[in-house]
Amino acid sequence: MLYRAAWFRHHLTTNDCVCVCRLNERFAHLQLNDLRKEATLGVGGLGRVELVTLADNKSVSYALKVMKKARIVETRQQQHILNEKQIMLESNCAFIAKLFKTFKDSKYLYMLMEACLGGELWTILRNKGFFDEHTARFYVACVVEAFDYLHSRHVIYRDLKPENMLLDQTGYAKLTDFGFAKRLIPPGQKTWTSCGTPEYVAPEIILNRGHDHSADYWSLGVLMYELLTGSPPFTGDDPMRTYNIILKGINAIDFPRNISRDALNLIKKLCRDNPAERLGYQKGGIEDIKKHEWFKCFNFENLKAKKMTPPLIPTIKNACDSSNFDSYPPPNEGDPPDDFTGWDEDF
Ligand code: AMP
Repeated sequence: MLYRAAWFRHHLTTNDCVCVCRLNERFAHLQLNDLRKEATLGVGGLGRVELVTLADNKSVSYALKVMKKARIVETRQQQHILNEKQIMLESNCAFIAKLFKTFKDSKYLYMLMEACLGGELWTILRNKGFFDEHTARFYVACVVEAFDYLHSRHVIYRDLKPENMLLDQTGYAKLTDFGFAKRLIPPGQKTWTSCGTPEYVAPEIILNRGHDHSADYWSLGVLMYELLTGSPPFTGDDPMRTYNIILKGINAIDFPRNISRDALNLIKKLCRDNPAERLGYQKGGIEDIKKHEWFKCFNFENLKAKKMTPPLIPTIKNACDSSNFDSYPPPNEGDPPDDFTGWDEDF
Protein backbone atom coordinates (compact mmCIF):
# COMPACT_ATOMS: atom_id res chain seq x y z
CA MET A 1 0.00 0.00 0.00
CA LEU A 2 2.92 2.35 0.63
CA TYR A 3 3.86 2.05 -3.03
CA ARG A 4 0.32 2.95 -4.04
CA ALA A 5 0.26 6.03 -1.78
CA ALA A 6 3.52 7.28 -3.26
CA TRP A 7 2.22 6.77 -6.79
CA PHE A 8 -0.97 8.66 -5.98
CA ARG A 9 0.93 11.68 -4.71
CA HIS A 10 3.11 11.70 -7.79
CA HIS A 11 0.05 12.17 -9.98
CA LEU A 12 -1.47 15.08 -8.08
CA THR A 13 -0.70 18.56 -9.33
CA THR A 14 0.90 21.01 -6.88
CA ASN A 15 -2.34 22.96 -6.77
CA ASP A 16 -4.32 19.81 -5.91
CA CYS A 17 -1.92 19.01 -3.08
CA VAL A 18 -2.20 22.48 -1.57
CA CYS A 19 -6.01 22.49 -1.74
CA VAL A 20 -6.39 18.95 -0.40
CA CYS A 21 -3.93 19.63 2.45
CA ARG A 22 -5.76 22.83 3.44
CA LEU A 23 -9.06 20.99 3.41
CA ASN A 24 -7.66 18.23 5.55
CA GLU A 25 -6.06 20.66 8.04
CA ARG A 26 -9.50 22.11 8.75
CA PHE A 27 -10.64 18.73 10.05
CA ALA A 28 -7.37 17.59 11.63
CA HIS A 29 -8.60 17.78 15.21
CA LEU A 30 -12.15 16.65 14.61
CA GLN A 31 -13.16 13.49 16.45
CA LEU A 32 -16.05 11.18 15.79
CA ASN A 33 -17.71 12.09 19.08
CA ASP A 34 -17.74 15.79 18.07
CA LEU A 35 -20.49 14.84 15.59
CA ARG A 36 -24.24 14.65 16.24
CA LYS A 37 -26.63 12.66 14.08
CA GLU A 38 -29.54 14.72 12.71
CA ALA A 39 -31.16 12.42 10.13
CA THR A 40 -30.50 9.52 7.78
CA LEU A 41 -29.82 10.48 4.14
CA GLY A 42 -29.43 7.06 2.62
CA VAL A 43 -28.99 3.36 3.18
CA GLY A 44 -26.47 1.48 1.06
CA GLY A 45 -25.45 -2.17 0.89
CA LEU A 46 -22.65 -1.64 3.41
CA GLY A 47 -24.29 0.73 5.87
CA ARG A 48 -25.96 4.11 6.21
CA VAL A 49 -25.27 7.72 5.32
CA GLU A 50 -26.20 10.06 8.18
CA LEU A 51 -26.62 13.82 8.20
CA VAL A 52 -24.47 15.09 11.07
CA THR A 53 -23.59 18.44 12.62
CA LEU A 54 -20.86 19.51 15.02
CA ALA A 55 -22.05 19.26 18.63
CA ASP A 56 -21.48 22.99 19.12
CA ASN A 57 -22.62 24.28 15.72
CA LYS A 58 -25.78 23.18 13.95
CA SER A 59 -25.40 25.68 11.15
CA VAL A 60 -22.99 23.48 9.18
CA SER A 61 -23.75 19.88 8.35
CA TYR A 62 -21.91 16.95 6.80
CA ALA A 63 -22.79 13.55 5.40
CA LEU A 64 -21.24 10.70 7.38
CA LYS A 65 -21.09 7.39 5.54
CA VAL A 66 -20.96 4.61 8.12
CA MET A 67 -19.96 1.18 6.80
CA LYS A 68 -19.94 -2.11 8.67
CA LYS A 69 -16.49 -3.69 8.46
CA ALA A 70 -17.91 -7.22 8.76
CA ARG A 71 -20.28 -6.56 5.84
CA ILE A 72 -17.40 -5.21 3.72
CA VAL A 73 -15.44 -8.41 4.35
CA GLU A 74 -18.50 -10.61 3.75
CA THR A 75 -19.09 -8.99 0.36
CA ARG A 76 -15.35 -8.86 -0.43
CA GLN A 77 -15.39 -5.11 -0.94
CA GLN A 78 -12.18 -4.37 0.99
CA GLN A 79 -10.13 -3.17 -1.97
CA HIS A 80 -13.06 -1.18 -3.38
CA ILE A 81 -13.48 0.68 -0.08
CA LEU A 82 -9.75 1.44 0.13
CA ASN A 83 -9.90 2.75 -3.47
CA GLU A 84 -12.97 4.83 -2.66
CA LYS A 85 -11.32 6.49 0.32
CA GLN A 86 -8.04 7.18 -1.46
CA ILE A 87 -9.62 8.57 -4.64
CA MET A 88 -12.24 10.71 -2.89
CA LEU A 89 -9.80 12.10 -0.33
CA GLU A 90 -7.43 13.21 -3.05
CA SER A 91 -10.13 14.63 -5.32
CA ASN A 92 -10.82 18.32 -5.25
CA CYS A 93 -13.38 18.97 -7.94
CA ALA A 94 -16.59 21.00 -7.84
CA PHE A 95 -18.43 18.09 -9.49
CA ILE A 96 -17.41 15.41 -6.99
CA ALA A 97 -18.72 15.23 -3.40
CA LYS A 98 -15.79 16.12 -1.16
CA LEU A 99 -14.46 13.69 1.39
CA PHE A 100 -12.97 15.60 4.32
CA LYS A 101 -11.85 12.96 6.74
CA THR A 102 -12.18 9.28 7.61
CA PHE A 103 -12.48 7.52 10.97
CA LYS A 104 -12.60 3.90 12.00
CA ASP A 105 -13.26 1.77 15.05
CA SER A 106 -13.52 -1.96 15.64
CA LYS A 107 -16.92 -2.26 13.92
CA TYR A 108 -17.27 0.55 11.38
CA LEU A 109 -15.46 2.69 8.83
CA TYR A 110 -16.63 6.31 8.55
CA MET A 111 -16.34 8.85 5.73
CA LEU A 112 -17.08 12.49 6.56
CA MET A 113 -18.22 14.21 3.36
CA GLU A 114 -19.80 17.42 2.24
CA ALA A 115 -23.57 17.09 2.53
CA CYS A 116 -25.35 17.55 -0.79
CA LEU A 117 -28.82 18.38 0.52
CA GLY A 118 -30.58 18.79 -2.82
CA GLY A 119 -31.06 15.01 -2.94
CA GLU A 120 -30.46 12.38 -5.59
CA LEU A 121 -30.99 13.27 -9.24
CA TRP A 122 -32.79 9.93 -9.44
CA THR A 123 -35.54 11.15 -7.08
CA ILE A 124 -36.03 14.33 -9.11
CA LEU A 125 -36.11 12.37 -12.35
CA ARG A 126 -38.70 9.94 -10.98
CA ASN A 127 -40.88 12.86 -9.86
CA LYS A 128 -40.62 14.69 -13.18
CA GLY A 129 -40.73 11.62 -15.45
CA PHE A 130 -38.01 12.93 -17.78
CA PHE A 131 -36.02 16.10 -18.33
CA ASP A 132 -36.13 18.53 -21.21
CA GLU A 133 -32.91 18.87 -23.21
CA HIS A 134 -31.82 22.05 -21.42
CA THR A 135 -32.11 20.35 -18.00
CA ALA A 136 -30.51 17.07 -19.10
CA ARG A 137 -27.65 18.95 -20.78
CA PHE A 138 -26.77 20.72 -17.54
CA TYR A 139 -26.51 17.48 -15.54
CA VAL A 140 -24.66 15.61 -18.30
CA ALA A 141 -22.21 18.54 -18.48
CA CYS A 142 -21.58 18.25 -14.70
CA VAL A 143 -20.65 14.59 -15.27
CA VAL A 144 -18.43 15.50 -18.24
CA GLU A 145 -16.52 17.87 -15.94
CA ALA A 146 -16.22 15.22 -13.22
CA PHE A 147 -14.98 12.67 -15.80
CA ASP A 148 -12.55 15.22 -17.24
CA TYR A 149 -11.08 15.64 -13.73
CA LEU A 150 -10.98 11.91 -12.94
CA HIS A 151 -9.76 10.63 -16.31
CA SER A 152 -6.94 13.16 -16.42
CA ARG A 153 -5.78 11.58 -13.16
CA HIS A 154 -6.16 8.08 -14.66
CA VAL A 155 -9.17 7.28 -12.48
CA ILE A 156 -12.19 5.49 -13.94
CA TYR A 157 -15.53 5.90 -12.14
CA ARG A 158 -17.54 2.86 -13.31
CA ASP A 159 -20.82 3.50 -11.51
CA LEU A 160 -22.57 6.34 -13.28
CA LYS A 161 -26.35 6.48 -12.72
CA PRO A 162 -28.77 9.16 -11.50
CA GLU A 163 -28.75 7.59 -7.99
CA ASN A 164 -25.07 8.52 -7.67
CA MET A 165 -25.58 12.14 -8.69
CA LEU A 166 -26.48 14.48 -5.84
CA LEU A 167 -27.51 18.10 -6.02
CA ASP A 168 -25.83 20.60 -3.72
CA GLN A 169 -27.78 23.52 -2.30
CA THR A 170 -27.20 25.59 -5.44
CA GLY A 171 -28.50 22.87 -7.77
CA TYR A 172 -25.13 21.80 -9.21
CA ALA A 173 -24.70 18.02 -9.54
CA LYS A 174 -21.88 16.07 -7.90
CA LEU A 175 -20.81 12.45 -8.20
CA THR A 176 -20.83 10.40 -5.05
CA ASP A 177 -20.22 6.72 -4.23
CA PHE A 178 -16.74 5.94 -5.49
CA GLY A 179 -17.01 2.28 -4.42
CA PHE A 180 -16.19 1.10 -7.96
CA ALA A 181 -13.72 3.84 -8.89
CA LYS A 182 -10.21 2.70 -9.69
CA ARG A 183 -6.91 4.32 -10.57
CA LEU A 184 -5.34 2.59 -13.56
CA ILE A 185 -1.75 1.67 -12.82
CA PRO A 186 0.15 2.15 -15.03
CA PRO A 187 -1.94 4.78 -16.85
CA GLY A 188 -3.51 3.35 -20.00
CA GLN A 189 -3.78 -0.14 -18.56
CA LYS A 190 -7.05 -2.02 -18.68
CA THR A 191 -8.84 -3.62 -15.74
CA TRP A 192 -10.95 -6.77 -15.64
CA THR A 193 -12.99 -6.49 -12.43
CA SER A 194 -16.62 -6.90 -13.33
CA CYS A 195 -18.64 -4.16 -11.66
CA GLY A 196 -21.28 -1.51 -12.17
CA THR A 197 -25.05 -1.40 -12.36
CA PRO A 198 -26.46 -3.79 -15.03
CA GLU A 199 -28.30 -1.11 -17.08
CA TYR A 200 -25.15 1.03 -17.27
CA VAL A 201 -22.52 -1.64 -17.90
CA ALA A 202 -20.56 -1.46 -21.16
CA PRO A 203 -20.44 -4.53 -23.48
CA GLU A 204 -16.70 -5.12 -22.95
CA ILE A 205 -17.35 -5.48 -19.19
CA ILE A 206 -20.08 -8.08 -19.85
CA LEU A 207 -17.75 -9.91 -22.24
CA ASN A 208 -14.85 -9.65 -19.77
CA ARG A 209 -12.56 -8.21 -22.46
CA GLY A 210 -10.89 -5.70 -20.14
CA HIS A 211 -12.04 -2.10 -19.87
CA ASP A 212 -10.77 1.39 -19.17
CA HIS A 213 -12.18 4.92 -19.09
CA SER A 214 -14.04 4.35 -22.38
CA ALA A 215 -16.57 2.37 -20.26
CA ASP A 216 -17.41 5.67 -18.51
CA TYR A 217 -18.25 7.24 -21.89
CA TRP A 218 -20.61 4.36 -22.63
CA SER A 219 -22.38 5.00 -19.31
CA LEU A 220 -22.55 8.72 -20.13
CA GLY A 221 -24.60 7.85 -23.25
CA VAL A 222 -26.86 5.62 -21.13
CA LEU A 223 -27.31 8.44 -18.59
CA MET A 224 -28.20 10.91 -21.34
CA TYR A 225 -30.87 8.56 -22.65
CA GLU A 226 -32.29 7.94 -19.17
CA LEU A 227 -32.44 11.66 -18.33
CA LEU A 228 -34.16 12.49 -21.63
CA THR A 229 -36.68 9.61 -21.60
CA GLY A 230 -37.07 8.58 -17.94
CA SER A 231 -35.67 5.06 -18.38
CA PRO A 232 -32.34 3.63 -19.50
CA PRO A 233 -32.08 2.31 -23.07
CA PHE A 234 -31.07 -1.23 -22.11
CA THR A 235 -33.47 -2.79 -19.60
CA GLY A 236 -34.56 -6.37 -19.10
CA ASP A 237 -36.51 -8.14 -16.36
CA ASP A 238 -33.28 -9.39 -14.84
CA PRO A 239 -29.56 -8.63 -15.25
CA MET A 240 -28.99 -11.48 -17.76
CA ARG A 241 -31.73 -10.14 -20.07
CA THR A 242 -30.38 -6.62 -19.64
CA TYR A 243 -26.91 -7.84 -20.68
CA ASN A 244 -28.36 -9.55 -23.77
CA ILE A 245 -30.05 -6.31 -24.80
CA ILE A 246 -26.82 -4.35 -24.23
CA LEU A 247 -24.94 -6.80 -26.47
CA LYS A 248 -27.42 -6.16 -29.31
CA GLY A 249 -26.19 -2.57 -29.35
CA ILE A 250 -27.63 0.94 -29.35
CA ASN A 251 -28.85 0.69 -32.96
CA ALA A 252 -31.44 -1.88 -31.86
CA ILE A 253 -32.95 0.66 -29.43
CA ASP A 254 -35.95 2.85 -30.23
CA PHE A 255 -35.53 6.54 -29.58
CA PRO A 256 -38.66 8.48 -28.67
CA ARG A 257 -39.50 11.28 -31.08
CA ASN A 258 -38.97 14.01 -28.51
CA ILE A 259 -35.21 13.36 -28.49
CA SER A 260 -33.46 15.84 -30.77
CA ARG A 261 -31.25 14.75 -33.65
CA ASP A 262 -28.15 16.14 -31.90
CA ALA A 263 -28.94 14.30 -28.66
CA LEU A 264 -29.54 11.03 -30.53
CA ASN A 265 -26.31 11.49 -32.45
CA LEU A 266 -24.29 12.09 -29.26
CA ILE A 267 -25.84 9.10 -27.46
CA LYS A 268 -25.00 6.86 -30.43
CA LYS A 269 -21.44 8.18 -30.57
CA LEU A 270 -20.96 7.48 -26.84
CA CYS A 271 -22.59 4.04 -26.92
CA ARG A 272 -20.44 2.51 -29.67
CA ASP A 273 -19.86 -1.23 -29.18
CA ASN A 274 -16.19 -0.77 -29.91
CA PRO A 275 -14.69 1.19 -26.96
CA ALA A 276 -12.02 2.73 -29.22
CA GLU A 277 -14.71 4.34 -31.40
CA ARG A 278 -16.51 6.13 -28.54
CA LEU A 279 -16.53 9.89 -28.51
CA GLY A 280 -14.21 11.07 -25.76
CA TYR A 281 -11.76 8.22 -26.29
CA GLN A 282 -10.17 9.51 -29.45
CA LYS A 283 -7.31 11.94 -30.11
CA GLY A 284 -9.37 14.98 -29.08
CA GLY A 285 -10.20 13.32 -25.76
CA ILE A 286 -13.14 14.51 -23.69
CA GLU A 287 -13.04 17.87 -25.52
CA ASP A 288 -14.68 16.06 -28.45
CA ILE A 289 -17.76 15.57 -26.26
CA LYS A 290 -17.75 19.22 -25.17
CA LYS A 291 -17.50 20.28 -28.82
CA HIS A 292 -20.38 18.07 -29.98
CA GLU A 293 -23.37 19.85 -31.56
CA TRP A 294 -25.59 18.99 -28.56
CA PHE A 295 -23.38 21.27 -26.46
CA LYS A 296 -23.14 23.95 -29.18
CA CYS A 297 -24.69 26.73 -27.07
CA PHE A 298 -23.41 25.44 -23.73
CA ASN A 299 -20.60 27.29 -22.00
CA PHE A 300 -18.45 24.83 -20.04
CA GLU A 301 -16.29 27.67 -18.69
CA ASN A 302 -19.36 29.26 -17.09
CA LEU A 303 -20.36 25.89 -15.67
CA LYS A 304 -16.93 25.37 -14.12
CA ALA A 305 -16.95 28.90 -12.71
CA LYS A 306 -20.47 28.23 -11.35
CA LYS A 307 -21.73 31.26 -13.22
CA MET A 308 -24.59 29.27 -14.72
CA THR A 309 -28.04 29.15 -13.14
CA PRO A 310 -28.93 25.47 -12.66
CA PRO A 311 -32.22 24.32 -14.19
CA LEU A 312 -33.63 23.21 -10.83
CA ILE A 313 -32.86 24.89 -7.52
CA PRO A 314 -33.55 22.65 -4.53
CA THR A 315 -35.52 23.91 -1.54
CA ILE A 316 -33.35 23.55 1.56
CA LYS A 317 -34.53 25.32 4.71
CA ASN A 318 -31.41 24.89 6.83
CA ALA A 319 -28.29 22.76 7.28
CA CYS A 320 -30.33 20.00 8.95
CA ASP A 321 -33.03 19.81 6.28
CA SER A 322 -33.14 16.25 4.92
CA SER A 323 -36.54 16.67 3.24
CA ASN A 324 -35.09 16.10 -0.26
CA PHE A 325 -34.24 12.53 0.77
CA ASP A 326 -36.51 9.57 1.50
CA SER A 327 -37.30 8.81 5.15
CA TYR A 328 -35.54 5.85 6.70
CA PRO A 329 -36.50 3.96 9.85
CA PRO A 330 -33.79 3.67 12.52
CA PRO A 331 -31.56 0.59 12.07
CA ASN A 332 -33.25 -2.45 13.55
CA GLU A 333 -30.37 -4.90 13.67
CA GLY A 334 -27.88 -5.00 16.56
CA ASP A 335 -24.22 -3.99 16.46
CA PRO A 336 -22.10 -5.88 13.90
CA PRO A 337 -19.20 -8.01 15.16
CA ASP A 338 -15.75 -6.52 15.80
CA ASP A 339 -13.13 -6.84 13.10
CA PHE A 340 -9.52 -6.59 14.25
CA THR A 341 -7.99 -8.34 11.23
CA GLY A 342 -6.22 -5.16 10.13
CA TRP A 343 -7.21 -5.15 6.44
CA ASP A 344 -8.32 -1.53 6.93
CA GLU A 345 -4.90 -0.31 8.08
CA ASP A 346 -4.77 2.19 5.19
CA PHE A 347 -8.28 3.52 5.72
P1 AMP B 1 -23.73 5.35 -0.97
O1 AMP B 1 -23.65 4.24 0.02
O2 AMP B 1 -22.48 6.16 -1.11
O3 AMP B 1 -24.30 4.89 -2.30
O4 AMP B 1 -24.84 6.36 -0.39
C1 AMP B 1 -26.18 5.96 -0.16
C2 AMP B 1 -27.08 7.16 -0.32
O5 AMP B 1 -26.75 8.12 0.69
C3 AMP B 1 -26.91 7.94 -1.63
O6 AMP B 1 -27.65 7.36 -2.67
C4 AMP B 1 -27.44 9.30 -1.24
O7 AMP B 1 -28.84 9.32 -1.23
C5 AMP B 1 -26.94 9.43 0.20
N1 AMP B 1 -25.63 10.14 0.20
C6 AMP B 1 -24.41 9.62 -0.04
N2 AMP B 1 -23.45 10.57 0.03
C7 AMP B 1 -24.09 11.72 0.30
C8 AMP B 1 -23.64 13.09 0.46
N3 AMP B 1 -22.36 13.43 0.36
N4 AMP B 1 -24.59 14.03 0.72
C9 AMP B 1 -25.90 13.69 0.81
N5 AMP B 1 -26.36 12.43 0.67
C10 AMP B 1 -25.48 11.45 0.42
